Amino acid sequence: MKWVRMKALGITVPLGKNKFYSDDGHVDDLKKHNEILIKKYKGNSIPTGDAFGQCYLAKENLNLYFNNRKIFSINLRNYVHIYYSKFQDDPTDIFIRSHEETHALEKLGKLKYLFLDMLKNSDIGSVIDSILFLIKNEEEELADFGAVYALRKRGLI
Ligand SMILES: [Zn+2]
Repeated sequence: MKWVRMKALGITVPLGKNKFYSDDGHVDDLKKHNEILIKKYKGNSIPTGDAFGQCYLAKENLNLYFNNRKIFSINLRNYVHIYYSKFQDDPTDIFIRSHEETHALEKLGKLKYLFLDMLKNSDIGSVIDSILFLIKNEEEELADFGAVYALRKRGLI
């Protein structure tokens, strides 16, 4: 069994043999990196989807354009990449990275490891509240939720 580390969330998850995860790190140009990945995988197959394309977060006083994650399927293998822009302050950087890691966990079918980690660090009542919240919300809220959890875990909020 191979294990991968979600560095911003601070959790390690097992991966099935047909699943591959890569944290490509900070990139200067999101679109350029995206093109590099498409070229990389095109040799064997057409990428089956860009999941949800560019991930962006627009809020009243905050307008960030960041990250990307892709799922490529080649011979029934799934490859999930995350990458993101660099931000100067740590909380923003952790927020963005853990947001994208949460997307990756969902795509890899490993969200339960996030909840297991929450159980270690929170009381059961707040974990249940969180799960109920997530059931009712969209993918972006889910990813934000993971990001807020990562900040809380570090005592940053
Ligand atoms: Zn997102």
